[in-house]
Amino acid sequence: MARRKKIYEGKAKILYEGPEPGTFVQYFKDDATAFNAEKKATIEGKGVLNNRLSEFFMKGLGQIGVPTHFLKRLNMREQLIRQVEIIPLEVVVRNFAAGSMSTRLGLAEGTPLPRPIVEFCLKDDKLGDPLVSEEHIIAFGWASQQDLDDMIALALRVNDFMSGMMLAVGIKLVDFKIEIGRVWDNDFQRLIVADEISPDSCRLWDIETGQKLDKDVFRRDLGSLTDAYTEVARRLGVLPSNVTHATKPTPIN
Ligand code: UDP
Repeated sequence: MARRKKIYEGKAKILYEGPEPGTFVQYFKDDATAFNAEKKATIEGKGVLNNRLSEFFMKGLGQIGVPTHFLKRLNMREQLIRQVEIIPLEVVVRNFAAGSMSTRLGLAEGTPLPRPIVEFCLKDDKLGDPLVSEEHIIAFGWASQQDLDDMIALALRVNDFMSGMMLAVGIKLVDFKIEIGRVWDNDFQRLIVADEISPDSCRLWDIETGQKLDKDVFRRDLGSLTDAYTEVARRLGVLPSNVTHATKPTPIN
């Protein structure tokens, strides 16, 4: 069997050439990194959980009319996605202060924000993904004004969807990061949600206890990351059917 072509290897995922032009296969690794890859570990099962969770969120977004790169899950660790041209910006939406916003602005973690705040960071590991303003984005040509308007609209729709999904299972969506890609349909271009949506890229706190159920468990050494992600998957009902659910799951497919 011919070895398939690796397109790109990132910290948590690998992209391979897909079976048809315009597609990629996205493989979820078990590797976890934090603090710009200064902290690293392999966490057994993380890739499988994130593959399922990202599928669940992307499919749900598709069902409410938010376009994403997701086509179908292929197996435990891989999904078929549309090839996109990634906009070199991380789009962060925050509902409560935490992480870098708390540090930067001296806000206690968990402080509710007056409205969802959208931030942009330049995707550049060497520079540590610095926060950039809309002025920077336009001036340096990383995206156009129309792209920015579309990215903000997409990010806020993802925020409403994700906040609602999480609230329904007793989880507060504190903040999250998405990446957005450009696709071409003949002469028309549009922006769609790409990369992944998983507890690696969200802050998720239990509404009752405040327990962290996201990558901060790894960043801050708060216990088992797999247990935290499994809890999120279990509450959402996205675990394989042979796993016992303590609360009633909402079955998908
Ligand atoms: N985030 C991410 N990848 C990054 C940086 C941030 O997925 O490279 C997510 C992070 O998990 C959190 C949100 O974006 O949900 C905001 O992160 P923040 O700016 O507070 O940075 P951090 O404190 O995680 O360094």
